[in-house]
Amino acid sequence: MSSKIAGLRHWRQRLSALFQDHEIFIRTHGHVRFLRISAVWQKRVALIAGVVLLAWAATTLAVLVNQLLTADERAAVARQQAAALASEKRIAQYRDRVAETAADLEERQALLEGIAETHFGIDPAAIAAEPVGAADQPAAATEPLKTSAVDPRLPPEAQALARLEARQEQFAGRLLAAVNLRANNAEEAVAKLGLNPAALVRSAATGRGGPLIPYKGKMGKAKALGESFAALEGALFRMEVLERTLVAVPSGNPANVLMMSSGFGYRRDPFTGGAAMHSGLDFRGPIGTPILAAAPGRISFVGSKSGYGNTVEIDHGQGMMTRYAHLSGYTTKVGAEVTAGEQIAKMGSTGRSTGSHLHFEVHLNGVAVNPRRFLEAKADVLEVKADARQRVGAITARGAR
Ligand SMILES: [Zn+2]
Repeated sequence: MSSKIAGLRHWRQRLSALFQDHEIFIRTHGHVRFLRISAVWQKRVALIAGVVLLAWAATTLAVLVNQLLTADERAAVARQQAAALASEKRIAQYRDRVAETAADLEERQALLEGIAETHFGIDPAAIAAEPVGAADQPAAATEPLKTSAVDPRLPPEAQALARLEARQEQFAGRLLAAVNLRANNAEEAVAKLGLNPAALVRSAATGRGGPLIPYKGKMGKAKALGESFAALEGALFRMEVLERTLVAVPSGNPANVLMMSSGFGYRRDPFTGGAAMHSGLDFRGPIGTPILAAAPGRISFVGSKSGYGNTVEIDHGQGMMTRYAHLSGYTTKVGAEVTAGEQIAKMGSTGRSTGSHLHFEVHLNGVAVNPRRFLEAKADVLEVKADARQRVGAITARGAR
């Protein structure tokens, strides 16, 4: 404590030593004047000088602060510019994304329209409106539009695109449900005809079992376009194979005669008396009875065949072929497209025949099968078949145009 007071006193003494009364003698042109500068006056001058100095320092400081502030402002502007640039970049990226989404949407739309035309021969709106078995339709068909999936932070244009995308996804889901339903119905009907649906789809996938599956090449991009679109690929193929098989199934009477004699299978040969495989069904009727195509198809053979006599063969696609034998005449020619029930020939007794009758065969992938199961198809199977024929017919009609 005492040292502090002592220190203060010491400084005071030093300050007092600085300001002491001064007497100055000035001699000008022989006159001597006496000038006295008091310590008080010196202190006043020093005070003024100090104040001036302080003012100058304050001004300098203000300028310096101002400069610093300006620098800060400049930094803020730079920051704003950087932000604007970043936002511009974001906008550019967003524009790219919007363009990309729009391109995706267009591609999907084209695919959907392609499916509608290739597989249904109608515009997409009609498929959605078609009430196919509304009762057991999967949940996907009735699911409301997931608008919550649309990011609310997106700009309005992007939201519009996202909504469109969601609607398209939903439509694809609905289409998938409708296609699966058709495929399931066809599968059931095909199985009821004694055919193996899984084997049919498998053999079609490996390229056997006939042409006319229009999906190949068109659905290649489906996987890249989303889940629903990828699932559509397999469903459409299954539907095509099974429905076309149903259409190809020769369930129409090959002749308007009710009696069917000799059945399919092993029986006593009427010529040799031994056991022989009878690979078809026989229809007895007068010579000239109209012979009708049992299913739509293309005439693949017209002419004489050893044992069969005059023969017509029809290729129905999907590995399905029908043969009409012992004919007395033809009303068609090779390459002609025929519809079910269309006359192709006249009943006769040519070849190894014991009397006027039609020998009718059905071949599946080169193997003769009993035609009876096709000819005796139940109403429920025929209903699914008629539905399939309508769809396939619509495509064929469009293709022919
Ligand atoms: Zn026969």
